[in-house]
Amino acid sequence: MKPQGEVLLLTPGPTPIHPRALAAMQWPMRGHMDPDVFAYNDGIVEDLKKLYGAPQDAFASLLSGTGSLGMEAGLANLLEPGERLLVANNGVFGRRMVEMGQRLGADVRSVDAELGKPIDPAAVAHAIDAFQPHVVAVVHGETSTGVINPVEAIADVVRASGALFSVDAVTTVGMMPFSMDELGIDYAYTGSQKCLSAPPGLAPVVYSRRAMEKVASRTTPVATWYADAVGMQAYWDPGQPRSYHHTIPVQLHWATGEAIKAALEEGLETRAERVRHLASAILDTLAPEGFAPFIPAEWRLPTVLAVTLPPGLDDAAMRKQMREQHNISVTGGLGPTAGRIWRLGLMGETAHREHYRRFMDVLGGMLGSPGLVERFEAAYDEAVATPA
Ligand code: PLP
Repeated sequence: MKPQGEVLLLTPGPTPIHPRALAAMQWPMRGHMDPDVFAYNDGIVEDLKKLYGAPQDAFASLLSGTGSLGMEAGLANLLEPGERLLVANNGVFGRRMVEMGQRLGADVRSVDAELGKPIDPAAVAHAIDAFQPHVVAVVHGETSTGVINPVEAIADVVRASGALFSVDAVTTVGMMPFSMDELGIDYAYTGSQKCLSAPPGLAPVVYSRRAMEKVASRTTPVATWYADAVGMQAYWDPGQPRSYHHTIPVQLHWATGEAIKAALEEGLETRAERVRHLASAILDTLAPEGFAPFIPAEWRLPTVLAVTLPPGLDDAAMRKQMREQHNISVTGGLGPTAGRIWRLGLMGETAHREHYRRFMDVLGGMLGSPGLVERFEAAYDEAVATPA
């Protein structure tokens, strides 16, 4: 049965589809080897380099799969069996990298931080000295808790060691300035449905030249044929004769390409400001109701705002009522934080004032607390008037 009506997604992904991406889904179909597709993909490659702040000699492409394929592809390409992988792990997605590395036959160690705390760069430096990893992998913004890891400081210690540096930018790239070049990042990825607000199904990924040199010099084949970067290059790289690799999902390419253009045209600084204003307005509005930030401001991930719930609030019942009676989807905690927090998404098209105004209106009604909308509007205006 066809789903009826719109549901407002205030989740940490997927996000509402950008109108320009939605329109592009209706563009005419082309074959994956069609010149129009190659020309469009060439534009995507250039735009991805801007989005990721990547040098011109980086290799950018879209993988046909979600963000997890982006994660797995990087590890599979950059590590040969038995090589050492150090994962900075403070949540669900760090643990996923550990598991992927183990399945790929790498020798994996992790530097862990407590739930809701960022990774300590000094602990990474210490682990690098002891373990001499070939690859260090970190999640920039840990979606499961709403923590941003200090990627700049971690980058300094990884660069000094000579290891390759892989960054999960799923909750950050596209919503804030990002520079692979300045930080010396060798591999970064996201998912199309997160900060870009395209439909799920593609993983925009970028390899540095150093990373591609590593792939080219491997003595064992990449464990996954599908995401072998050298195989992909033959399809994506305009400098090579175009050859078939796999049948790319053309409509998703149109949609994601347009979503990337929309993000770049809006500007990454402007998008980051949009997120800052909203987060500040949401926290100020909710504080008198007993909601509090789960993560201190210094290491709070801007795009996934985790708030603790007031005592006695029935998390599951509230979110069910929001979805069923008001067509708003809100996400709770994961594992140990289930029932204790909500994770309010501020990525891409979710991060608009009118969406959270509607949320405040509904929440105020459910809590029997009038005035949330007025408070939200005033707090938003104040946030806009306050310099970052
Ligand atoms: N990494 C992070 C930080 C994520 O938040 C997610 C998804 O939420 C993923 C990786 C995996 O992405 P996907 O669900 O698109 O496979």
